Amino acid sequence: MNKATQCVHEGTYHDPKTGGVNTPIFTSSSFEYVDRENVHYPRYFNTPNQEAVIRKLCSLEGAEDGVLFSSGMAAISTTLFSFVGAGDHVVLLDDLYGGTHAFATDMFRDLGITFTFVPSTVEAIQQAVTSSSKAIVIESPTNPLLNVIDIARVADFAKSNGITTIIDNTFATPINQTPIQLGMDVVVHSGTKYLGGHSDLCCGVALSSKEHAAVIRSRACHLGGSLNATTSYLLERSLKTLALRVDRQSDNALSMAQFLAEHPAINKVNYPGLQDFQGHTTAEKQMRKYGGMLSFELDNSKNETAGFLSRLQYIRSAVSLGGVETLICSPAQTSHEKMSVDERKRVGISDALLRLSVGIEHVDDLIADIEQALRSEKIN
Ligand code: PLP
Repeated sequence: MNKATQCVHEGTYHDPKTGGVNTPIFTSSSFEYVDRENVHYPRYFNTPNQEAVIRKLCSLEGAEDGVLFSSGMAAISTTLFSFVGAGDHVVLLDDLYGGTHAFATDMFRDLGITFTFVPSTVEAIQQAVTSSSKAIVIESPTNPLLNVIDIARVADFAKSNGITTIIDNTFATPINQTPIQLGMDVVVHSGTKYLGGHSDLCCGVALSSKEHAAVIRSRACHLGGSLNATTSYLLERSLKTLALRVDRQSDNALSMAQFLAEHPAINKVNYPGLQDFQGHTTAEKQMRKYGGMLSFELDNSKNETAGFLSRLQYIRSAVSLGGVETLICSPAQTSHEKMSVDERKRVGISDALLRLSVGIEHVDDLIADIEQALRSEKIN
């Protein structure tokens, strides 16, 4: 089945009594007891609405099983606590989403877990691994620099060393990239972004083999970050248009990246779809399209960031990403604000960097908005 068809059809529960074409919202937190093996309960991650979403996402990511969470961070933290404990070591890329970076920095030390942040290269990961390393955490493309890493090489290396691999696939989405097919063990998402897609819900997911999912589910039952029925239903509804949305967002983002790369007031554009972007060749190998996220730096001799942002008309300055509307933000002030100034400098997240989450609007209107905001600055 093609992705667009999986998005629409997989997982839907058809109510035999009414013949309704959509999964009904099962608001029950209590379900009839059948036997010990089949106890349904929201915090056991197995209510009908949770399962409908998991089946759809498993088919999209090529996973066997998964767990649906109340946020992306619930998925990430629970997954890490499933495979890592006191005395273990974790290798993480240094330009992961700021919340994941802060989670490791704030919590691991207290829990007796050691960790190393490394640049987004396979060689850096290989050098950082020790005999205590139990997990490798990557994103590709990363947030917010869009760095691309060779996923299959990371997976191969980790497998030969008995290390669990976790990838945050939020930016790429399963429409553009399926890391389990490249050998990764666990795929996590902030479903708040593209999976939800309308900036109106918060959720997360971890998808993997049956064996890994059983470990995650058993930890998740203790930690308790499950998703309610109404939001699960909203997510299932959103997923039906995931392929359409992401396709359009990816096409729009490529056009915008090409426009920005040519513009004299822009210093630098990070987008895996640009031929001269350093991760392009690897991205071409492992992604279908290049996604709806890009980042760029204004040439501050010509443009002052705050002024540029205030002149944008449709493109709103807001946190989060992946919705149908185009949003822009300064990672140094939002998603990566908790990172120290020195760390941001070392990683390459400058104060001039702006991250664009490209929506499904007509691309001509988006380019016109950016163009007028840049032009106004030159006139002033
Ligand atoms: N992963 C990425 C790449 C993100 O951008 C975010 C949030 O911005 C998260 C994870 C965390 O997700 P949530 O806010 O749903 O907990």
